[in-house]
Amino acid sequence: MPTAAVKPLGKRRSCPICGKPIAAAHRPFCSGRCADVDLSRWLGGRYRIATEEEPDIEDLAEALRAEGGQEFD
Ligand SMILES: [Zn+2]
Repeated sequence: MPTAAVKPLGKRRSCPICGKPIAAAHRPFCSGRCADVDLSRWLGGRYRIATEEEPDIEDLAEALRAEGGQEFD
């Protein structure tokens, strides 16, 4: 049975956000910007799920601070 259809995440060779070549410093992304985009998507999905149970705003804020301390307007 062929197993090639399932690509291990560690074998990605392009940024999952924009498809550009991955930068070693930002794996598995091409840049910190795309890492931020992915983080935002991930947090967004988690936030929607969380609202069905209970608010988790403090965790979100803490994750954003830990991510690099960038200012988000
Ligand atoms: Zn990218």
